[in-house]
Amino acid sequence: MKFTIAIDLGGTIIKTGLIKEGQLIDKKEIVAHSASGLKPQLPELEEAIGGLLTSNRITRRDVLGIGFSFAGLVDSTENRILSTNQKYDDGPETDLVGWAFEKWNWPLFAMNDARMALLGEWQHGAGVGCSDLVAVTLGTGIGTAVVIGGKLLTGKHFQAGNLGGHFVVNHKGSVCTCGNIGCVEAEASTWRLPSLLKEHPGFTESAMKNEEVLDFRSLFRQAGNGDRVAKEVLDHCLSVWAAGMITMIHAFDPEMIILSGGIMKSSEIILPALQEKVNERAWTPWGKVKLVKARFPDSAALYGADYLVRSSVNK
Ligand SMILES: [Zn+2]
Repeated sequence: MKFTIAIDLGGTIIKTGLIKEGQLIDKKEIVAHSASGLKPQLPELEEAIGGLLTSNRITRRDVLGIGFSFAGLVDSTENRILSTNQKYDDGPETDLVGWAFEKWNWPLFAMNDARMALLGEWQHGAGVGCSDLVAVTLGTGIGTAVVIGGKLLTGKHFQAGNLGGHFVVNHKGSVCTCGNIGCVEAEASTWRLPSLLKEHPGFTESAMKNEEVLDFRSLFRQAGNGDRVAKEVLDHCLSVWAAGMITMIHAFDPEMIILSGGIMKSSEIILPALQEKVNERAWTPWGKVKLVKARFPDSAALYGADYLVRSSVNK
């Protein structure tokens, strides 16, 4: 049995992949309707998985199991979703293990998506050979995961290292979707960016005002054109992310931080700016923490899912 099925349930796109001996050989993407819940998406997932099997001429007996990557807190011992934040909110009531067993007689192994992406980068990507690393995903929200001493950090309630997007960087700051105040995500993230721009006193005179979509793509473009408001908001975001990363460094003592997510499409601007701030401010007398771009920014979680299935089945 050489194959594994990997599922990465994101907020806007669901990725499914077929992996053979550590290589992603086929994938299918589905539009996510995360606000409507997880259960309504299961038939579409079944169809996508069926398509992967048929078009690659394999049967369910050729598959070891499913690795299921989820944007929320996940109990990776019982393989069930513990808590969500405005995405697939029926997750905790959905029996994924039972679903996979009933449909295909496969075992299913679930994990938080940032952890899954870290597993993929650690085993196959930018983190190969490193025993102490942190992964940060700058997407709609901000996901984090940690490996210390060659072990994935999970903690008693499966949340250790996972909530770096909710580290407080401004105790008098904005209210976050998680209920806390001044989280990294609440101060600078894709979901926060539109209000961040509109609250800027210079917004009405800024070229950003004429942008159809207030996202990081338009922000980077207008900052590159020299727009003052875009530059100031971008600087603010970089400072917030650097503050979050320095706290990750002080908390977890990594050698490396691997960055991925949609915002990293502008990595040539982000990486040097963050590295400079981290070099200046982090207390690391042993040397400098290296910030690197993910090798598989779009598919690290799929590779991680494959690793998780293989290591769990062979236990
Ligand atoms: Zn928060």
